[in-house]
Amino acid sequence: MKIAVCVKCVPDSSAHTRIDPATKRLDRSGEAALNAFDVNAVEEALRLREAAGEAEVVVLSLGPERALEPMRKALAMGADRLVLVSDEGAAGSDLVATSRILGAALERESPDLVLFGQQASDADGAVLQAAVADRLQRPLISQVAELTREDGKLRGKRQTEYGYDVIEAPLPAVVAVSDAINEPRYPSLKGIMGAKSKPQETLSLGDLGVAADEAGEAGSRTTVLALGEPPARGDTVKIEDDGSGADKILKFLLEKKAL
Ligand SMILES: Cc1cc2nc3c(=O)[nH]c(=O)nc-3n(C[C@H](O)[C@H](O)[C@H](O)COP(=O)(O)OP(=O)(O)OC[C@H]3O[C@@H](n4cnc5c(N)ncnc54)[C@H](O)[C@@H]3O)c2cc1C
Repeated sequence: MKIAVCVKCVPDSSAHTRIDPATKRLDRSGEAALNAFDVNAVEEALRLREAAGEAEVVVLSLGPERALEPMRKALAMGADRLVLVSDEGAAGSDLVATSRILGAALERESPDLVLFGQQASDADGAVLQAAVADRLQRPLISQVAELTREDGKLRGKRQTEYGYDVIEAPLPAVVAVSDAINEPRYPSLKGIMGAKSKPQETLSLGDLGVAADEAGEAGSRTTVLALGEPPARGDTVKIEDDGSGADKILKFLLEKKAL
């Protein structure tokens, strides 16, 4: 069995996020980290490999060259190799262009299972998995909090607002795991030392047969028209509860004619 895990390198959570006014895109020039939600997907792939006894775990990303370093964390955890699609022509890719490029890279790998995280912490779309599943014409189970494989079928316990759905899908399939699915392992020292020597492949759009007008801004269907600051907060009132908190809140709401 071959498992491909799609991971995104995002601005480090300690970095101040800023939108570049010239490109109207997130400034991704600072410190980068592996999207925390994707670490759950890597962990789940490793657990499936352990349960199967034999499987290959490939980590795949679309991003700049410097995404290689955060991606090596997945190798240090135990993934077998990584593939990074990195090409100037991919800069400015929206969901449509990103799914086209990742779809092409996944078709080249032809895995039995494609794993995604829940969402990317920089864009929080939680939609790429569905777009890629559509590109590949494979079934998708999203928000999976428990995943098992039996007789060539997958069974996912899917978190919903009212409880769980249990969904089965035949392989090959796409699964997006929730962050409740597991507790990711820490890379061991041996894993960290060995990560650099594992196979690491960097591909261009040309390697994947993705045309210039299918990627980057040319291949995107989204145009950011304007950006604005969030409206300033009005006067805020802090009510300390010294035993009369409820009365004070009631008085405040009556003054605001909210009741
Ligand atoms: C006009 C426009 C321009 C943009 N330009 C850029 C840009 O230059 N650079 C850029 O990084 N983003 C850019 N983006 C954002 C980019 O399109 C989205 O990040 C991408 O479509 C994924 O959506 P998401 O982040 O909402 O991912 P989600 O749907 O929240 O992510 C879900 C899962 O998808 C996987 N995933 C997400 N992104 C990748 C990836 N790149 N490689 C592998 N797996 C991934 C992860 O498993 C993740 O957990 C742009 C967006 C717009 C609208």
